[in-house]
Amino acid sequence: MSASPLDLKEVRADFPILRESIHGKRLAYLDNAATTQKPTSVMAEMDLYYVHSNANVHRAVHELAARATKSYEAARERIAQWINAPRDSIVFTRGTTESINLVARAYLQPILQPGDEVLVTTMEHHSNIVPWQLVGAKTVAAPINDAGELDIDAWRAMLNPRTKLVAVCHVSNALGTVNPIAEMISEAHARGIPVLIDDAQGIAHLRMDVAALDADFYAASAHKFYGPTGFGFLYAKREHLEAMTPLQGGGDMIDTVSFDGSTWNEVPYKFEAGTPDMAGAIGAATALEYLDSIGLDAIATHEHALLEYATPKMQAIKGLKLIGTAANKSGILSFVMDGAHPHDIGSILDQAGVAIRTGHHCTMPLMQRLCVPATARASLGLYNGTDDIDQLIDGLNMVNRLLG
Ligand code: PLP
Repeated sequence: MSASPLDLKEVRADFPILRESIHGKRLAYLDNAATTQKPTSVMAEMDLYYVHSNANVHRAVHELAARATKSYEAARERIAQWINAPRDSIVFTRGTTESINLVARAYLQPILQPGDEVLVTTMEHHSNIVPWQLVGAKTVAAPINDAGELDIDAWRAMLNPRTKLVAVCHVSNALGTVNPIAEMISEAHARGIPVLIDDAQGIAHLRMDVAALDADFYAASAHKFYGPTGFGFLYAKREHLEAMTPLQGGGDMIDTVSFDGSTWNEVPYKFEAGTPDMAGAIGAATALEYLDSIGLDAIATHEHALLEYATPKMQAIKGLKLIGTAANKSGILSFVMDGAHPHDIGSILDQAGVAIRTGHHCTMPLMQRLCVPATARASLGLYNGTDDIDQLIDGLNMVNRLLG
């Protein structure tokens, strides 16, 4: 592998969990697409918040409430900057899943007519399929080729007057495919169709500019970008947020309340009923600071080089087939092996200290298209190195010795 722009020794020192010993082996954590590990700075800032600033936001005049509100709103500003959005178009949620459900309920459902469609792709996560179905939309999936790339011509041909929304992942969690979202947004907009980008898998790896892209909706989860679990956000264009009615009623989302009726707070607050996750917001913003301190471009270069290091080594393993070989691919290596069920691969690798994920990866329709019940998946993060890949390869050779 060519020299990495990252100092891995320094980076790894930021992640105490990487020092865990697993079944007596060093940990090779290759399950980053499921969730990333947290740097000390994220945990420390969340701790500091509880030690020095904890109070409910927006509702009191005392000093701690002022500190909590300041940090919470500063986090919104930081997250908005990261994707080049105005701060008041960032709605805090529990994550990508809740963000997409919010769009389904508050944006799509009120305008949906019988027979209306959401155009998705075969590679979508269940979070980008089921919410549309729950509100009564028909989910129509554009096909992919055998490399796991979207068939963009077929996708274009599927846009039609019934298409109320295009919803697509930036990066596939099961294949690593990077979709041509800029082209898709401009094609959909040319037909007056809004677009939602599910960036759960892209945000920690590829730079995002929702203004330049002109995305209508954009969803992400903090735990995929080295931040805490249970926190995420939805970006939506102001005009959409203004038109959407709140999904949940309660504290903070109102302007006035009476027994005759209530009026809503301004955006984004009308979508944030109840006491929010202040520590989560602070942790998420700190995670973005952390990524900035290393440099997203350096991270992307590092992870790409690692992907190129790992790919031929995995392909050289007897009976192993990579699932997802798109030309434009992020650091995800899904695979199957002759004579070995993915769950058995996962268990044997676990004994070797290697953490990967096995299963359908919340992409059952994709598994059906690929004619596999499940895959094994190694996914890269900024702290991974060639030593992790070598440990994975040794483990896969062990799988072959035991099961092959
Ligand atoms: N979309 C994609 C592509 C994902 O990979 C995931 C999680 O793995 C999600 C959506 C859902 O994210 P969360 O569970 O954080 O809401």
